[in-house]
Amino acid sequence: MGKVIAIANQKGGVGKTTTAINLAASLASNDLKILLIDMDPQGNCTTGVGIAKEPGMPTIYDALMGAHSLAETIVSTEFDGLQLVPADKNLVAGNLDLVDMDRREFRLRDALDTIKADFHYILIDCPPALDLLTVNSMVAADSVLVPIQCEFFALEGISQLIDTVERLRESLQPNLKLEGVLLTMYDERTNLTRQVAKDLRDFFKEEVFQTVIPRSIRLAEAPSFGKPILSYDVSSRGAESYIKLAKEILGHEQRTGSAA
Ligand code: ADP
Ligand code: MG
Repeated sequence: MGKVIAIANQKGGVGKTTTAINLAASLASNDLKILLIDMDPQGNCTTGVGIAKEPGMPTIYDALMGAHSLAETIVSTEFDGLQLVPADKNLVAGNLDLVDMDRREFRLRDALDTIKADFHYILIDCPPALDLLTVNSMVAADSVLVPIQCEFFALEGISQLIDTVERLRESLQPNLKLEGVLLTMYDERTNLTRQVAKDLRDFFKEEVFQTVIPRSIRLAEAPSFGKPILSYDVSSRGAESYIKLAKEILGHEQRTGSAA
């Protein structure tokens, strides 16, 4: 059964999509079958893995609304082992449309149940909001991975995110775990980065991944070529860091004995 990881932080620009794409590719490069689900109406994850948004292409919106099965929305990417459920701007209506639906918080989980067995990992790229799309993602997930940018207001809003996870644990998804907090856009040359990283490690303790993601132009360039960093520049520090993160996550499974 595939393990489902939601990549969430209601702040925009913290590295959610970059992490979703590159962690997915790094896991796939371990000979694993990976599904990436784009839950953000901006669809950056979709273009970032080289999938063009064609009119009429079934997307996650159609799967949430029940117009298509989730299986019908899956497309293959050029990266071996990596498949995608795309999103486009139709998903903007998703939040409103979901409000009146049956099992509105469970739409993604119910859809995922039908295909979970076909993948080792399923990564969900959440939108920058604690909305019904993010709630659907967390309810469908086994764990939440929280990217945090090493900058001055890093911790701002994090308590709301943690509250949301805790509320879901008490209600809709009692088994929801924290996969870890990931420090992104890390620049070890600046005092600010080092200070913020220290504060985050003091606050989250061992929940912070050992691996940090450096600030890297190559990571920022790769999506405009529709490629994960492993295809764009495999020897870059950015690629190295996501390969290391994938190892750390695979290590979590060995430690808990729950093979993916
Ligand atoms: P989010 O999905 O949280 O909004 P993104 O992954 O889209 O964040 O990242 C926001 C911007 O920062 C994008 O332009 C992206 O290319 C860039 N970026 C993300 N991670 C890095 C990094 N490690 N180094 C440099 N630029 C990065
Ligand atoms: Mg994003």
